[in-house]
Amino acid sequence: MAKCSETPVWHQKGLRHVWLPYTQMKTVAVPLPVVRTQASRITLADGRELIDGIASWWTACHGYNHPHLRAAVTQQLEVMPHVMFGGLVHEPALTLAHRLAAKLPGGLDRVFFCDSGSVSVEVAMKMAVQYWLNQGLRGRTRFVAFRGGYHGDTTGTMAVCDPEEGMHRLFRGLLPEHIILDLPRDEETMASLERAVAARANEIAGIIVEPLVQGAGGMLFHEAAVLKRLRALADRYELLLIFDEIFTGFGRTGSLFACETAEVAPDIVTLSKALTGGTMPLAATVATQKVFDAFWSDDPLHALMHGPTYMGHALACAAANASLDLFEREPRLDQVRAIEAGLRQGLEPCRGLPRVRDVRIRGAVGVVELDRIDDLVELRRRFIAEGAFIRPLGSVVYLTPAFTIAEDELTTLTRAVVKVVRELN
Ligand SMILES: *Cc1c(COP(=O)(O)O)cnc(C)c1O
Repeated sequence: MAKCSETPVWHQKGLRHVWLPYTQMKTVAVPLPVVRTQASRITLADGRELIDGIASWWTACHGYNHPHLRAAVTQQLEVMPHVMFGGLVHEPALTLAHRLAAKLPGGLDRVFFCDSGSVSVEVAMKMAVQYWLNQGLRGRTRFVAFRGGYHGDTTGTMAVCDPEEGMHRLFRGLLPEHIILDLPRDEETMASLERAVAARANEIAGIIVEPLVQGAGGMLFHEAAVLKRLRALADRYELLLIFDEIFTGFGRTGSLFACETAEVAPDIVTLSKALTGGTMPLAATVATQKVFDAFWSDDPLHALMHGPTYMGHALACAAANASLDLFEREPRLDQVRAIEAGLRQGLEPCRGLPRVRDVRIRGAVGVVELDRIDDLVELRRRFIAEGAFIRPLGSVVYLTPAFTIAEDELTTLTRAVVKVVRELN
């Protein structure tokens, strides 16, 4: 009887029919049935509570079930769940466009909405290519992107991911060829990047990079100087600079957007993940006036050729507006600073452990890089035994909690990381 209530019927029935992400279904560990969330807690069907170290792929920045987000979505649902964005507009989307433009630096003020991060990157790439086409320049269809980068799972975006992570070899023949290089971390790598760009400048539409933190590609950090070099390079060769802030946007690195900290303004920025505070899928591609001007014409073919069915989803935009309210009303960036201090102190004991290569912290991102992870499934199981939901990636164990996480919850997470990493042999 107890067994029955622990494994819900929907879990048993549905698992035979669902296909899980990046998962070898033959050897998969049984995914945990979740029945409830609240703040930084995930409740499982058997009654266990886990402290969430990942905030659902970095989306739930205010914690789960925040009353203000709930109220905004509920209220919008009463009035109008959604209407198509072709020929119609509505208050939640237009208010959100206006507010995002006001918050983004550097004249980024034209917002195109879509429904997922990958698609917002696809739109940014199409925007960049069409920017040149509309000016009569054909053949500028390649992008410069960087090792360690991650920009999505669709075919267009896979081709600008790290070649290993993006599995370029596996999909050879399908993916267009772009120019994937090392980030210009010093003068030498900058010189070789510049040589590569100079050789093919008239084929290149733009440069795409995740500013300050390369997320899913390995939680790799770089300094603002790298982005300043990319801005200078883009200016010298008249390329568009695209910042993918899907991971870094909305406070994760300590400022509302990473481009603010870096003091570098891109021509196009992509946003998603924490945009709606983890409630609804939504993404945005935001361009400067300069980019927008290339589409302003009497020629209908100069219009931006994209339009997802659910673009500007009214419920999602209502959630995003409510999330921005919280960034305005509550001390989110102070909370990120407190988390940064907590991560620094809490993860420091990992430094010097035999299997640890690096410990690095930036904003509400704490990373313990190992020499390798042999058994990912076993590692995840050990974290769960410590009451923590942590999902190592490649060879890194990382924490990206909600900004509202309580101090003792963060301590539980960092202690779990130290304990589990110490026990590795
Ligand atoms: C998650 C992510 C994406 C892809 O977003 P999806 O919503 O999963 O399509 C793209 N770029 C970055 C930097 C991301 O972190």
